[in-house]
Amino acid sequence: MSSPSRLLSYALPAILLAGAVAYVSCKSVSTTMGWDKKLSAVVNQPKDPAIARQELRIRTDYIPAGKFGRRMHRPMQPRYITIHSTQNPTGDAFDHARALKNGALKGGVIGYLCWHFSVQQDAIIQHLPTSEQGEHADFDGPGNRFSIGIEMCEHQGNDLATTIDRTARLTASLMQEFSIPIENVRAHYHWPRKGYDKPNKNCPHFLLDRGEPGHDWQWFLNRVSAYRQQFDTFYELQRQQNQSAPIEPAPVSAGEQVI
Ligand SMILES: [Zn+2]
Repeated sequence: MSSPSRLLSYALPAILLAGAVAYVSCKSVSTTMGWDKKLSAVVNQPKDPAIARQELRIRTDYIPAGKFGRRMHRPMQPRYITIHSTQNPTGDAFDHARALKNGALKGGVIGYLCWHFSVQQDAIIQHLPTSEQGEHADFDGPGNRFSIGIEMCEHQGNDLATTIDRTARLTASLMQEFSIPIENVRAHYHWPRKGYDKPNKNCPHFLLDRGEPGHDWQWFLNRVSAYRQQFDTFYELQRQQNQSAPIEPAPVSAGEQVI
């Protein structure tokens, strides 16, 4: 049996301007997994954050309020974003959405796992409002209490590079929405799990180097920062356009009209 319920235990994800595109934001950090060869660099072009969000085409499919991972209402103000991977070769984002809604994924301090977004090459599903705490990182730790959890799917047939890129764009959008700095984008690895022999999980494993954040993780952060920079570039362009806009002549009032 290879359903998400079996494979996902808490141990798992316990789970410039206009036209000036010469500057390419990604720093030259080559990755051990070759992700930098599979994805083209992110160009620093202006991007309206609202359009970027629309392009992500996030599907909302919430766990029912009051049930399973939402059986208690646990409000959260996001300060961090935590990146995971499912380590599930058979379950896609839709399978995970169903499992979360059915209470099939047990674990954590409230008995059920839950996280905010699942990403695959061609879809993003949101399972939990970003104003509510998830159960995906470190039990009672700050990873659960203050972070938005994103799971990258790795089922067979799913293109991981495209999934990573979509995750980077989602992360940048959430950083913009909640004023989260890049320092607060964390791998699951960064949230130690109390009581485990290996408290720092090798997650997301395909962005870590020998189980620890290294060049590949830094490459991912650089990509996220490059997408986030596009929003600042958009606002800077807007500011410049507003400054250079011609001042409209004041309308002539009736009393001043010369007959
Ligand atoms: Zn994880």
